[in-house]
Amino acid sequence: MAMEGNCSLEFFPPKTSAGLDKLLSSTLPALWALNPDYCSVTYGAGGATRSTTVATVTALQELGYDVAPHLSFGADDRTTIEALIRRYQDQGVDRLVALRGDLPSDVDSAHELIHASELVSLVRATTGDHFDIAVAAYPEIHPEAEGYDRDIHFLKEKLDAGANSAVTQYFYNVEAYFYFLDRCAAAGITQPIHPGIMPITNFANLQRFSAACGAEIPRWIAQRIADFGDDSESVYKFGIEVVSQLCATLVESGAPAIHFYTMNQAEPICTIAQNVGLGRNGGGNAGNSAVHQSVA
Ligand code: FAD
Repeated sequence: MAMEGNCSLEFFPPKTSAGLDKLLSSTLPALWALNPDYCSVTYGAGGATRSTTVATVTALQELGYDVAPHLSFGADDRTTIEALIRRYQDQGVDRLVALRGDLPSDVDSAHELIHASELVSLVRATTGDHFDIAVAAYPEIHPEAEGYDRDIHFLKEKLDAGANSAVTQYFYNVEAYFYFLDRCAAAGITQPIHPGIMPITNFANLQRFSAACGAEIPRWIAQRIADFGDDSESVYKFGIEVVSQLCATLVESGAPAIHFYTMNQAEPICTIAQNVGLGRNGGGNAGNSAVHQSVA
């Protein structure tokens, strides 16, 4: 089975104009050499980054990048979200990543979050087939899910509401992703489920974030990194090796294009992509030995 494309790239909206300049002038051009299908821009919990997300999406679009804004209801009403959807349509954006999102800490915890399936339905009701819509999927299961099969049931619900594909939460257990694909297929899901990949760079931050979002860091990885102590260079090299190996396995299995959580950094993704052969020949098919040689 062949890869569908090279990859896609996720960015967060920089808070400052200096941060946006850096993204546009160096990070993105370096990463665009990988020939990605599109890039996406996250949307802060509860709409906290609405203006910076819109500004970043608009700047990327003006430079000709194919961009997918992330969107969730958060604490906003239907009229506000409809207006944002129409605004994106009017300015020629044709992709969206539709999410429920999480509540920011300063919003009343009694506020009811609106599921991603409802947002997908709203996008379709407002703009028909204009947008290519991606939704989130969880190979290790969403932390609030009522159960494994229930989570897949609700994934199917949002795909049935009109989403075109899913992108997964990041994972380091490749078996979890393959098993998840099998269960999704058994549930009748036919849309592509793109593996989301997070490089291992700042391990302390990654551990904190993983605990909250329900992505498991395998014990052997945590133990190995603990051994490196303050040796950040060894942590970085080990992280590149582990994630390159993970990506090589995905590429060899014929997984759909990898979605990279870039954390607005070019170097780790470029090194991983080079190790795996992504961006060279439209898909990449490097074997394990190539990965081991180049990270040795
Ligand atoms: P949903 O699909 O609505 O699911 C949330 C939970 O509710 C799940 O447990 C599900 O099983 C359950 N559920 C779904 N439908 C129903 C129903 N009808 N009845 C009962 N239970 C139901 N967060 C951000 O704040 N900004 C971002 O930009 C962002 N980007 C992301 C990109 C990707 C690729 C991924 C994987 C996650 C992203 N997130 C982002 C995190 C995401 O918002 C959280 O994981 C959030 O908790 C769930 O969002 P969802 O869209 O998966 O929600």
